[in-house]
This record gives sequence, structure tokens and C-alpha cells, in this order.
Amino acid sequence: MKILVLNAGSSSQKSCLYELNDTLPDRPPQPLWEAKIDWTQREGAGELQVKTAAGHTLEEDFTSDSRAGAIAQMLETLWHGETQVINSLNEIDIVGHRVVHGGRKYQQSTLISPEVKQEIARLSEFAPIHNPINLEGIETIEKILGNVPQVAVFDTAFHAQLPPAAFVYPGPYEWLENGIRRYGFHGISHQYCARRAAEILNRDFADLRLISCHLGNGCSLAAVRGGRSVDTTMGFTPLDGLMMGSRSGAIDPGIIIHLLRRSDCSPEKLDNILNRNSGLKGISGVSSDMRLVAEAIKDGNDRAQLALDIYVHRLRAGIGAMLASLGGLDALIFTAGVGENSAVVRAAVCEVFGFIGLKLDGEKNLNSPVDDDVAAVDSAVRVLVVHTQEDWEIARECWDISRR
Ligand code: ADP
Repeated sequence: MKILVLNAGSSSQKSCLYELNDTLPDRPPQPLWEAKIDWTQREGAGELQVKTAAGHTLEEDFTSDSRAGAIAQMLETLWHGETQVINSLNEIDIVGHRVVHGGRKYQQSTLISPEVKQEIARLSEFAPIHNPINLEGIETIEKILGNVPQVAVFDTAFHAQLPPAAFVYPGPYEWLENGIRRYGFHGISHQYCARRAAEILNRDFADLRLISCHLGNGCSLAAVRGGRSVDTTMGFTPLDGLMMGSRSGAIDPGIIIHLLRRSDCSPEKLDNILNRNSGLKGISGVSSDMRLVAEAIKDGNDRAQLALDIYVHRLRAGIGAMLASLGGLDALIFTAGVGENSAVVRAAVCEVFGFIGLKLDGEKNLNSPVDDDVAAVDSAVRVLVVHTQEDWEIARECWDISRR
């Protein structure tokens, strides 16, 4: 069967096409076709990159200014030109979408119906950047592919069984009744990495206590026990928890009250400060990109050094909290851009956990191996670097649903 995956970000649109047969492969297969639209490079225009398993590539600037038009143009490269991998759209059996917010209702991946679409739209109130573009992707596919089955794979679902003590905010009880609670995000990545960790360790997923550190532009931790998330750092929105590229993570809510009392501070201004001008970018004044912050540190930039120090301090504190929720730890997992590539961050984080018997193999860690264990042989806790594969996880969910 052919499974098309759509993964929409605020300034990018990724997509890929997998071909699977009756048995699910042990390792993610290479997609037949992969495409990405990037809207960050030039103001008001996009860049399309396509590659196929057969080695054909395409790179072109983009003319369409609507996301729906861009998706349609991107999908055309599936059956037209150098990157063609199918003869007709009818060959696509099922389409999977990453949907950021599934609220309280969707605790697992769900076949999309008019009712599901309505609920995704309603939840836009909680995820105003992401849910509308996820819905747009679903509706664009309806227009192009008609009645093909579509599946919503929710970023919140892996956290759906958090215990109440972990998901209820200690505000007034009405908050909870109005849906103001911790939901947690990055669930598709945490789920993939936790399962991959069990494979690498050759252990039963259900028996492991894991902490998954997803450190990309957005950053979050998940404490995983019995194959489910039991605690996580992102909350009601993806702004809670760790310090991130341009997001603050958790701060004293009193700061918000203080700023809102100043007449020149509107909610929009605060949103802009906390989501786009804080974190590594806000402190360093250099960039939200960890590579550029690291270069500035080498050039002696003190604010860049402070940004890294806070990042690591908060990561250690977050891991400490997850550790307490788990009551022990079999493996610490690092994933996403920073987690997979920054030996410096991994080493700085691990350094303080010697007291639980965690010991890195310094040399191995420096090489940032993919899907491997970088703990010393005699470490009591394994430390894994896992390449996250959200698109594959979405394809797997579609495969599962198609067989129910
Ligand atoms: P997203 O959350 O948008 O999917 P990524 O997972 O690609 O993002 O992570 C982006 C982050 O990864 C950026 O901060 C980038 O600097 C960082 N990163 C990528 N490669 C490296 C590297 N070699 N060393 C340190 N950080 C890196």
C-alpha cells in the first residue's frame, strides 16, 4: 500500500510517500518520494525541494502564495516530471497528517470524518498557529484526492494518559473544566524515539523507564513508563517547560502580570516576546540556532555563553523532575537537531547525573552516532542518540489503522 504523509509546520510543509506491504519492516524504509516547502528563505516566496528513492532531485522557487496552492504544486511532482514515482493519484491508498492538538477527545490516531474536522477546527483556539494549517492540509487533500481515507495523528495523543497530578494546573478548578490543563506536545517524536530505544536496547518497551529529550527549535521532555508518557514539560501550549530556540519555556507567571499592567504591553506583544524573541535568541541576541550560538561562544560572546548555560541548567532541572516522576531510569534519549548533533549539550547535561550511576563514553559521544548508545560500558543508565522519524511514525499509524 502507498501511504502519503503530510507534516505541516508554521513555516514549512514536509511530505513523503511510503510503500509498505503486509509486514511492517523493522526499520523505517526509505520513502519513495520526499518533498519539503520552506517559506523561511525569502520574504513571501517558498522553496520546494524534492528527492526520490531512485535518486532524482528537484529544487525550485515557488510562486504560489497560498498553502493549499503550494501543497497542490508539491504533490504534482509525485506524478509529473523527473521526480515522478506514481502514474496516477489513485495509487495513494491512505493519507496521514500530523495534527498538533487533539484535545481531551483524541487519545489515539483517528480516521478523519466531518466530525473530526470540526473538532480539529474547534481546537484551533488552543493551537492557533498549527491546527488551522493541519485542517487546510486535510481539506486540500480532499480536493485533490477525493474520498481517500485520511488519518489524523495527534502530537498530544502520546501524553493522553498522564496522571491527573501531572496534567492539572493548580489554578482554580474551573480551568480544568474549561480545558485549561497540560496536554503535552512532540508526542509523535517521543513515541517513535521511546519505541526505537527499546529496539536498540533489545528490551521490552513496556518494561522500560525512559526520559526522551526532544531538542529541536521547540524542546520538550517526556517521562515514559510502560510505553506511555507519564509526565512531560510542554503544557497547555508548546510554550511551557524547557528553554527553546526562540521560546522562553516556563517563566514566573507574575512576569506576565507585571508586563500586562504596563500600558504598552498587549497580549499580541507578549505572544511575540515569549514565542519568537526569547530563549536562545532572546538571551544571546545572536540567533535561535544552536550552531550559531556555539560559534559566538567560541568568539568569546558572553551572552551566547549565558544562553547555553541557562539552556543546560533548565534541561538538567527538567530531567531531574522527570526522574522523580519515574522513580528510576533505564535510558536517557537525545533526539532532534540539538539532541542528535550537539555533543556539548549532551555532555553538559549528563555530567551532573553521575550520582545515579550515569556515565557517558566521552569519545563515542563526540561522534554523535545515529541510533546508538553513547553511555560508558559500566554506566548504570544507557544514553541513546536517536534520529527522530516523525513521518515514519505517522505512516505506521496509518498502516495500523488501515488493518483494523
Ligand atoms: P525543528 O524543531 O524545527 O524540527 P530541528 O529538529 O531541525 O528543528 O532542530 C533545529 C535545531 O537543531 C537548531 O537549533 C539547530 O541549531 C540545531 N542543530 C542542528 N544541527 C546542529 C549541530 N550540528 N550542532 C548543534 N545544533 C544543531
